[in-house]
Amino acid sequence: MGNLIYEGKAKRLYSTEIEDELIQEFKDDATAFNGLKKDKIAHKGELNNKITSIIFGHLINEGIPTHFIKRLSDTEMLVKRVNIIKAEVVCRNVAAGSLVKKLGFKEGTELDPPIIELYLKSDELGDPLFTDAHVLALGIATKEELEKIRALTLDINRILVRFFAGRGINLVDFKLEFGRDKDGSIILADEISPDTCRLWDAGTGKKLDKDRFRFDLGNVEEAYKEIMERVS
Ligand code: UDP
Repeated sequence: MGNLIYEGKAKRLYSTEIEDELIQEFKDDATAFNGLKKDKIAHKGELNNKITSIIFGHLINEGIPTHFIKRLSDTEMLVKRVNIIKAEVVCRNVAAGSLVKKLGFKEGTELDPPIIELYLKSDELGDPLFTDAHVLALGIATKEELEKIRALTLDINRILVRFFAGRGINLVDFKLEFGRDKDGSIILADEISPDTCRLWDAGTGKKLDKDRFRFDLGNVEEAYKEIMERVS
């Protein structure tokens, strides 16, 4: 393995012999509430690596450009090197989380059309919600890049809503990160897993995602395993 070039809360990135390719390793560490709550979830790294590999593979088959090349091992995947855009893109089909806490939505309210939000990627500032005008003024992305990111996010949402519905899961909301590849094209990066999505069982409404960890609902590993089995 190459040198560690970045360590985040849930993943590590390593260089490889190929300049444009990195290894993305998934850790068992879990954090919530901007790092205030910390623990490990047994086998989370392996489960999220496998779930992300399956979902990115499906998105690639459906024509979405992503950084995913292939899964290498239980906890590692090979990805294209990108220059990460410092905006987290959240897409919501159903009201939950901060929409309930900060804006007073009733949990479970359907959102049609889906709501797309941008958050500044900054641990020091606590990832605040921000607008297109802030993105442009901070030089984080261009107007054309933002348009591309929104269009890709809506395409990804359509693909994933159908993918999860076929597996008895309601895709409530999710967070995406995009980057620029070596040619400057916008591609999907990071991960898509129960760490970054809200996934509710379509029949019972049972939460099968990181909210089980955030709110001490119990059976966290079992929920991630359930998602793994359903997407396999
Ligand atoms: N999310 C994420 N990383 C973050 C913030 C949010 O992956 O740093 C995901 C979260 O898991 C949920 C969606 O984005 O699926 C919307 O999260 P929300 O804004 O409701 O915030 P939260 O409840 O996570 O604080």
